[in-house]
Parts: sequence; C-alpha cells; structure tokens
Amino acid sequence: MPDKRTILSGNGVGDDVAIGSSFFYAHSLDTPIYKIEEDDIEEEYKRFDEAVNKSIEEIKLLQMNADNNIKNILSIHILMLQDKVIEKQVKEEVKNKLFNIEHIYDTIISEYLEKLSSINNKMLSERSSDIIDIKTRLIKNLIQPNSAYYFQVPKNSIVIAKTLTPSDVLKFNNIGAEGFIVESGGYTSHTAILAKSFGIAIIFNITDISSKIKNGKKIIIDCKSNIVIMNPSKKDINNYTMLSDKIKKFKEKSILDAKEKAVTKDNIEIKINANIDIPEETESLLKYGIDSIGLYRTEFLYMFSDEEIITELPTEEAQFEVYKYIASKIKGKVIIRTLDIGGDKISPALGLDFKEDNPFLGWRAIRFCLQNKKLFKDQIKALLRASHYGNIEIMIPMISTLEEIEDTKKFIEDVKEELKKENQNFNENIKIGVLIETPSAAEIIDLIVKEADFLSIGSNDLVQYMMACDRTNEKLTYLYNPIDISVLRTLKKIINTANENNKPIALCGEMAGVPEYTPVLLGLGIREFSMPIKSISAVKNIIRNVSIEECRNLVNEMLEKCSNSFSKSSLYNFRKKFNI
Ligand code: PEP
Ligand code: MG
Repeated sequence: MPDKRTILSGNGVGDDVAIGSSFFYAHSLDTPIYKIEEDDIEEEYKRFDEAVNKSIEEIKLLQMNADNNIKNILSIHILMLQDKVIEKQVKEEVKNKLFNIEHIYDTIISEYLEKLSSINNKMLSERSSDIIDIKTRLIKNLIQPNSAYYFQVPKNSIVIAKTLTPSDVLKFNNIGAEGFIVESGGYTSHTAILAKSFGIAIIFNITDISSKIKNGKKIIIDCKSNIVIMNPSKKDINNYTMLSDKIKKFKEKSILDAKEKAVTKDNIEIKINANIDIPEETESLLKYGIDSIGLYRTEFLYMFSDEEIITELPTEEAQFEVYKYIASKIKGKVIIRTLDIGGDKISPALGLDFKEDNPFLGWRAIRFCLQNKKLFKDQIKALLRASHYGNIEIMIPMISTLEEIEDTKKFIEDVKEELKKENQNFNENIKIGVLIETPSAAEIIDLIVKEADFLSIGSNDLVQYMMACDRTNEKLTYLYNPIDISVLRTLKKIINTANENNKPIALCGEMAGVPEYTPVLLGLGIREFSMPIKSISAVKNIIRNVSIEECRNLVNEMLEKCSNSFSKSSLYNFRKKFNI
C-alpha cells in the first residue's frame, strides 16, 4: 500500500472534521491485504519479529496469574510462536509473493488449520483452538503494534474499526479519540448518536478498511464532504486546521443561537428540548441555555460507568443519585425513558444469555423490563424517588400493545404503594408517556392517546420498523427514509390524533435534529422537538426563517403527490427559497 495521498468516500455524521493519527481497533478488523515493494521486505520481517516478541510477553504476563494447567497450555503457545519452520515459511512467502506479512501469516495458518480439521483426530482438532488463539494474538499485534489496551491508545487518535459498539465509543471518548472511521453502521445507530453527542467526528461505510488504511499514519476525516484523506498533504493539513478552527468558532456562535427562543415568522413559538445519553451532558445543556430534556436514554447507565464497561447492574440507589442530579439541575421537564436495552445496546451486566438472532425484533425495552421485574422495580423506584427533586416524567419505549401500557402503569402504581409504605417522598401525579416507535403503536394511536399523559415519536425506530429495514445496515440507507410517503402518512396520523385529544406530542428521533426535516415536521403539526444538543442552534435558525403556513403547504404537496422524488426535490426548493 503506497503512502501517497488518497481519498476514500463514506457517510459522515454531522459537519465535524478531525485530524489525527490512525489507530486500528484490531479486535474488530479483518486482516489487511496489500502489496509491498521489495524495499519493504526487511521492514515486514522486523514487524513480524516484534509482534512475536510482544505476543510472548503478553502470554508471560497471563501466566503469572494462571493455575498450573493454564500455565502449561500457555507455555505451548509460546513454543508455537517460536516455531522456526513457520517463521521461515512466512518470511519466504513474503519475499516471493510481495504481500504484507499479516496476510501471508494469516493464509499459511488458515491453510494449516484446514488440514488439521480434515484429519479425524480429537487431540489434533483440540489443538486448533490454540492455533486460532495464537494467530489472533499475533495478527492483533501486527496491525496494532503500539498498544494492548484501549486506554493506551494515544490521544488524538482516529480509531479505525469494522464495527463499533456504543460502549467502544464511550471508552475511546475517555481517552480523547478525535474521530472514528467505521466499515458499517448508520447515522441513527446508537454508536453514531453517542459519538455525535461527544462531538467526535464519525464516518461510516468505508469498505475493506483495513486494506486501505495503514496504522499510525496521519489521517483527516471530513464528515460534511463525506471523505477521509489518508496521508494528507501539508496544504490539506493547513486547510483542515483552519476549517477546524472555523467550526470551533461556529460552535461558539451556535451556543448563542441556541439560547434564543425559536419563533416562526408567523409568531408561533416552538419548544426545543434536548436528548441526552449520559448525565454529564446536563452541563453542556445548561451552557446552551436549554432548560428541558425530552429524552434521557437511561440504558447507558446499564452499559458502562465512567471508566469501564460495567459488569453489575446499577442499583436503585445509584440510579436515584443520577436521576436526582439531573432533575435538580434542570428547571423545566425532564423526560426519562425507562430502560431500552436490546437491539444494538447490550449490557454486559445482563450476561451472555441475552444474545438473539434478530435483536431489533427481540427482547427489547419494555418487553424485557416487564419480564425482569426486580430490575424494572429498581429503576421505577429510583425514578419516583428522584421525582421529588424536579419535574421528572417517565416515558415507556417500544410499546406495541395497549396491554403493555396497562401493565406498566399498574406496575408503577404498585411501586408507588410500596414507596408510600416506606414513607418515601415522590410526585404522586408523575406523568407517564409513551414513545411511539412501532407501526402497531401508530396504528392504535387513538387508543394509546387515552392511556398516555404525553406522546413522543421515536422516529429512528418507527422508520426502521415501518420500512422493515435495520437502522444500522449501511446497505439499506436508500430505504431508511424518514420522509418516505408511508412514514409521512403515519406521522400525520399520530400527530393529528394527539392534537385532537389535546395531548402533548413531541418528536425525539434523530430526524428532529436534521434541519432539512424541520419544515416537514412543523407542517405536520409538531410544535415540540427533542434533539441532540449540538443540533439545536441549526434547527432553531430554520424555525426562525419559516412560517407554519409555508410548512403546511409543503407537507400537503408532498402528501398529495405521493412521490418520494417529488418530496426530495420540494425540500430542496424549499431550502433554496428560504436560504436554509
Ligand atoms: C427512536 O427510536 O427514535 C428513539 C428516540 O429511541 P432510540 O434512538 O434510543 O431507539
Ligand atoms: Mg427507539
């Protein structure tokens, strides 16, 4: 792979840029394949020798805390890593074939493993798992030679990964990563949502990443132009440093814009609440002058703590402290969503049994909570107790049936009784709202509206389930369309029903924070939005530039024409006309 300036295209989230040095998150990567020059051979040999030594050191460390049995197995691993026959074969093939050493090593060992599996011998096939283990370790140390643990990743790194989980994002945020380049995922994935809320540049959908990008090299991410520049020129670095400063200044101005009210040209005030994922975001929310939370995703409390992935569920007391902290800081309402674990959010503390074939259609959110009463009770108790210290409202995610609402409300009433017996203070009239994010909930919205104190539309999931299209699957981005005619009709029905019944309704999915959708949502009747803090100023600026009547006309036209390409072009014209 030549070290020349190369541009790769992907799908960036937001407008951020990042300049840093590439860091391969080896656990998630395929073995890279690239051609080398004859001049590179010695360097490849050196990398191999160093990776072997590092692997041996790691194994020796593991041996220190192991019992005798394990110690013996690990000694065999060391002997295998020192195998001179393999080393000779690997080095010869690098010289003859002129491919990178990890690819050659991977191929030789894989062929060896294949031969072993064809021999019907139990002892030999048991040896296979040792060989796979050694192979994985050595390849990890070849492609990620500088660090063994994520917390040793140098600051200002741009993390390159095949996939990233929300927990990975938190870990890398803690060590000050500048950006992420990920092979697969989408802008409504929780990974993207979390990266955006930390202000870390993230770009998805760059295929075959490990063959295209080298470890430890200067690299730039430009999310707005959807590109990655490898081995940037001096000019690139100067330009992007300037752009990055400009973005910083723009962000400072955004804070001022976010503080002002959002009133349309025809004098309708639109309420903007914030979405938060972690309690620490409360501080930035105050900085932006926002005094209400429309969605606090509590599941991250179950996934990781400040330092590490957690292995124990948060106690009632620990949750109470967090909810109380947020509620006492924020003057307006604080909508806290009950645990929405499942889908792409897995809690290590819930154990391995929680793996499913179709997690987005699985044991998620309220379905899980209603079958795990002890865990759910801890959360409801903590929420109710914290409601004494601020304006907490409870929101239930992933409702698909009326019975789920009834069961949840009954459950909350029972917990209230228990708290009364314990003489605990709480808000007896706490509001219980429903997140509308399944097609079934949308279909029975006339029934749900009577049971709920308020509604919020979870468009991320609603679009996913309506279009039968995984929100994290990059191959389906063409289908994942929040203004598809089917979605527009459904949104209209939900919003009209809420408005006719005088029930507060907001929209809190990612589309709320995408400025080009703002006129559509206003035209559909949304008067309350909830979005990531970083999107607030841009959306408010659009609201100030439009009238409700113009937005209504736009939506009516989109609904009448029933054509997605018409919708797309009318949005484009609308944006042009109003300079937004
Ligand atoms: C949604 O689905 O739109 C939503 C707000 O919830 P989440 O993104 O956490 O699934
Ligand atoms: Mg959702």
